[in-house]
Amino acid sequence: MTSEQAYFFTVALINLVLAFSGTRIKDPEGKQRSILFFILAFAANFLSWFIYVFDIGVTLKIISVLLSSVFIWGMVVFSYKRCECSLPVAFISAIFLINCVALSYFTYAEQLYNALHVSALFVPLAFCMMGYLFLKIKQHRNPSDIILAYACFFMAVIVASRSLLLKLSPELFSATVISSQIIWPAFSVISGVFALLSYTEEVQFKLQQESNTDQLTGLANRRSMDRTLNKEWARADRHQRPLALMMLDVDFFKNYNDQYGHQAGDDCLKAVAQCLLSSCQRAGELAVRYGGEEFLLILPETDITAAKALSKKICASIAELEIPHHSSPQGVITLSSGIAVVSDHNYQNIDELLRAADSALYQAKQNGRNQTQIAQKITFNKPILF
Ligand code: GH3
Ligand code: MG
Ligand code: MG
Repeated sequence: MTSEQAYFFTVALINLVLAFSGTRIKDPEGKQRSILFFILAFAANFLSWFIYVFDIGVTLKIISVLLSSVFIWGMVVFSYKRCECSLPVAFISAIFLINCVALSYFTYAEQLYNALHVSALFVPLAFCMMGYLFLKIKQHRNPSDIILAYACFFMAVIVASRSLLLKLSPELFSATVISSQIIWPAFSVISGVFALLSYTEEVQFKLQQESNTDQLTGLANRRSMDRTLNKEWARADRHQRPLALMMLDVDFFKNYNDQYGHQAGDDCLKAVAQCLLSSCQRAGELAVRYGGEEFLLILPETDITAAKALSKKICASIAELEIPHHSSPQGVITLSSGIAVVSDHNYQNIDELLRAADSALYQAKQNGRNQTQIAQKITFNKPILF
């Protein structure tokens, strides 16, 4: 095997491995089956390079250039599917056919430089389309998508400038022709690896979000609450800044479920959660579904006055929802809330602070509901001295 054949074989193998790696990826639910086009593109590219391992005639050379076009345009179709953008079938088919005919003709006529110029027209077009789709169209873009997009733009520039170099300075082109061969395996690796990593990053992000979010309401869950509470507690302690917790509970919710059904109960919880979410817009604030129909707001940099004002605002926006509740004295859904504020080391730890907010809420319930109570400042039991 000559060193050239060894090079073709290595590049072919790289593409085969990438095509095989594609089979291990599951398209995220509900998405178009983009990965099939990725596998097809890389399998075609594998064959396109593999053919050159043998001493081949013009027919196989034509087959090889056709397969390389399948790789390029297969990747474009993959990008459309991956970015969930509707595929312009007629345009892509037409341009693919023109690309194939032109390449086949110049390969048949053994006009390799003209074949290179043809590639310099179509390849940058395809790569710019891919780059644009991943950079501008894809929703929930992740870092791998961005790397892939810039790799495509970079490749488009390289391929176009190679053709330009051939026109302007054939001597310089011949001097660089071998080293420029490295761009194709490099592009295969970068585009293949980052296209696959993009799926993994997407799943990682989704899992991370799901593990921190309450499924019904979309608010933060207890796991996320623990993390934020620890962070904010430490910050409040370090900088001696106030930190408020507001515990909220829907009044007479058991009756609501009994009267209107569980589904209506769920819808009501979602509406309340939306109200809370839009009330907690400042940086660092977090709305948590604490339990069934209990919610917790973590409010950094919030003193008693500000917390009271916020609770008033929340009650007003819940009243505006006008969710009918005939067993409630107000005839609509109302909330009770309890507030505890950290200042001057009045609580020893997070549990104590949470308990204080909970007892304030209990007090609000005892006092007739639809109101806010502030936790009494804790006075620690003094040690008894003998
Ligand atoms: P209070 O005014 O004292 O808070 O009375 P309440 O009826 O709201 O209090 P209680 O804690 O006894 O009732 C809570 C009810 O919330 C009981 C449970 O059926 C309901 N609940 C808890 N989680 C969900 C949920 O995810 N969906 C629905 N629809 N109901 C829920
Ligand atoms: Mg309740
Ligand atoms: Mg409750």
